[in-house]
Amino acid sequence: MKRRDLIVGGIGAAGLAAASKTKAQKKDVFKWKMVTTWPPNFPGLGTGAMRMAKNIEAASGGRIKIKVFAGGELVPAFEVFDYVSSGGAEMGHGAAYYWRGKSEATQIFTTLPFGLNAMELNGWHYFGGGMELYRELYEDFNLRPYPAGNSGCQMGGWFKKEINSVNDLQGLKMRIPGFGGEVLRRNGGTPVAMPGAEIFTALQTGTLDAAEWIGPYNDLTFGFHKVAKHYYYPGWHEGGPTLECIVNKEAYESLPKDLQTIVDIAASATNDSMLAEFMARNSFALEQIEQMDDIKISPFPKDVMDAFKESAEEIIGEIIDKDPKFAKIYKSFSDYKKTVEKWTKISEYALLQNRYE
Ligand code: CA
Repeated sequence: MKRRDLIVGGIGAAGLAAASKTKAQKKDVFKWKMVTTWPPNFPGLGTGAMRMAKNIEAASGGRIKIKVFAGGELVPAFEVFDYVSSGGAEMGHGAAYYWRGKSEATQIFTTLPFGLNAMELNGWHYFGGGMELYRELYEDFNLRPYPAGNSGCQMGGWFKKEINSVNDLQGLKMRIPGFGGEVLRRNGGTPVAMPGAEIFTALQTGTLDAAEWIGPYNDLTFGFHKVAKHYYYPGWHEGGPTLECIVNKEAYESLPKDLQTIVDIAASATNDSMLAEFMARNSFALEQIEQMDDIKISPFPKDVMDAFKESAEEIIGEIIDKDPKFAKIYKSFSDYKKTVEKWTKISEYALLQNRYE
């Protein structure tokens, strides 16, 4: 008898059934749906999610086919999490901090004010313990999460009036969601949460005095420069936010191992390519904005940044006191931050200082 026959003989009927099941699965075609939080064909974020779906289909030789839906097409943008969790769709793309209503800790996986940049945050996710905590938190929701994109450092936003000190924030109505919005509130402003598509009209009609969206690439597309003339930096509230792909756990487990690996790799490839796209396209768009004579691009005054930093720390302290899951994940994040900062200071930061000084 040949060695192979011996092995098959040793496996027995159950083993043979399992082996033939594996074989059958290799021919199976998995038809998946991906629901996203992005407007249709939304540049950078939506197109990045679409590229991920195409990569999975191509790498699997068509064994996984994914139909991508923009926010609102199948379910409203902010129902993506529940829909994938319940198995309505196998996959979703959005940002973890949209789900702070489920758990405050989700925000840590996206971004925190004055937090990490994209490179540092990737380090925490993949090699600093972040990913394990991310998976653990989403286990309760029947989801397998992945970092799957990053916009890089955002801009501080468009303002109709100059901001020279914290006093100029009093009564300021600004579109700035979530954590950043709470920081603004504590410094006298009125944060407004509003989908991207409504910002232009709200600025034009005076419903808003200011708005942050993403950065030059997306902001230019929406035309904010036509209705607000002061463009401030940096995006202190979103220094390198990680976008997210979520996969329904049963759907993932139903895939043979090779297809699971393709999904895993496609997510990290998207994490890479999206950041590269934002880096290049933001710089091309900034060049265009710089050529507009009526637009003033300025850094936020130091007293505003100091006040914001103090408020952000205060808010984090309050959440830690009432939310043990947040406290646990934040500890991992902030321990890593202290460590990585030492390296960033003498590597990237030192390089950039020497480039410009
Ligand atoms: Ca933003």
